[in-house]
Amino acid sequence: MENEEEKDDSIRWYVCGPTVYDEAHIGHARTFVALDIIRRVVEDFFRLPCIFAMNITDIDDKILEKAKEERVPFEIISERYTKKFFQDMRLLRVRKPDIVLKVTDHIPCIISFIQGLVEKGYTYETADGIYFDVNKYPFYGYFRQCGNLIPKENREKKDPRDFVLWKKSPSLENVPGWNSPFGKGRPGWHTECAAMIHEVFGDRLDFHGGGVDLSTIHHENEIAQMSCFLGKGWVPNWIHVGHLSIRGCKMSKSLRNFVTIREAIESKQMDAEEFRVFCLLHNFNCDVEFGEDEICEAKRTWSKLKKWNEEWSYAEKDLCSFFEQKAKKETEETEEWGEKADDRSWKTEIFIKLRNNFQTREVMLLILQECKKTLQLKAQGCFPWDTCSYIYQLLLIFGLKFPAWSLINKEQELIGLIVTFREKIRVALSSKVEDQQLRKDIFAICDELRDQDLKRIGIHLEDLKD
Ligand SMILES: [Zn+2]
Repeated sequence: MENEEEKDDSIRWYVCGPTVYDEAHIGHARTFVALDIIRRVVEDFFRLPCIFAMNITDIDDKILEKAKEERVPFEIISERYTKKFFQDMRLLRVRKPDIVLKVTDHIPCIISFIQGLVEKGYTYETADGIYFDVNKYPFYGYFRQCGNLIPKENREKKDPRDFVLWKKSPSLENVPGWNSPFGKGRPGWHTECAAMIHEVFGDRLDFHGGGVDLSTIHHENEIAQMSCFLGKGWVPNWIHVGHLSIRGCKMSKSLRNFVTIREAIESKQMDAEEFRVFCLLHNFNCDVEFGEDEICEAKRTWSKLKKWNEEWSYAEKDLCSFFEQKAKKETEETEEWGEKADDRSWKTEIFIKLRNNFQTREVMLLILQECKKTLQLKAQGCFPWDTCSYIYQLLLIFGLKFPAWSLINKEQELIGLIVTFREKIRVALSSKVEDQQLRKDIFAICDELRDQDLKRIGIHLEDLKD
């Protein structure tokens, strides 16, 4: 088994998913869209195969509180908001994880992970649960050095930074729980992720993602548990997405300053494409304000790109599909060597920007600059197909989707209207117009439309006799 694992060189990637007790807001959307963009760049631009896993915390204090409020079993709450979260992700066109891990489906593995830590002596028991003893791990706090911000909510805790691995269910209350060697209860949040990462990926994790707010405590705690469990250092590459703030404050449920994903999209504040452009325009690791200026910049950028796409969609040469273009590009590959050196430099620049910490903002600005150049060339009668197809490919990789189909449908509709209009005139001419010269002139105009104007844009019409 170990040998099999070593042979598998796919990137092992884990993302801390949502706790499903309420609707996701735009702050969550930014985290998941930013991570989705990075995933697409890794998988489709750098062509590195990944195994992408995400957890769903479907048992938690907040879920239990909500269930109590609504007087329903907790599963009703967690299932409702899991479904909504998936719908939101679909709306934002976030690629589905390869593996989705619902905590309640993995209780036995979490119990045996805790058991491992208990046996190695890293834990202690109090009246309400099993705790991790951070002082037994000499490197605790080295990751972010913020661990001492935690309030001591349980007097029996040896150190305020100690965290619960297993929460015992109070016997008198009707609280859901699972049987375990440490009594009936449920896992603590910090231990779920560590245990499931170990269950799925074993000793090695390559990328670990999540919102930056998880880096201070949650991920510090994951590192401590994994390193103690494995008996060796555990060091994934961390991909922490910056905060989204609204009027200078972090968007969060506790501050009640949030906009849900659905609200933002249904109120037409932003559509899925504009939101993705918004994420692309702010590098994933930066904090960003969800303000008027930032929203306008994203809308303006997307409308520029759509306009650019329309310009080329209407161009005569673009009647063949994108994939035909790609095939064409491959046959022209040898010719490309003849291009001027500076034609290629912007592509190199894009490669470097993406390779160096996924600087999507800089890449988007380069794309806009190149789009402008292609339109200038088009005005001069040149068709820089290689550049255009490269831009298309990049935008597709970023997960952007042009409204191409509606455009094509409109074109079809327009062609239909022209054909019918022309037919009606020809019929009217034959049956109702006596003046021979006028008939001849109008027929000539109809023929000109068929033989010159329509042909020029690649449409071939044939008139049926009678
Ligand atoms: Zn986590």
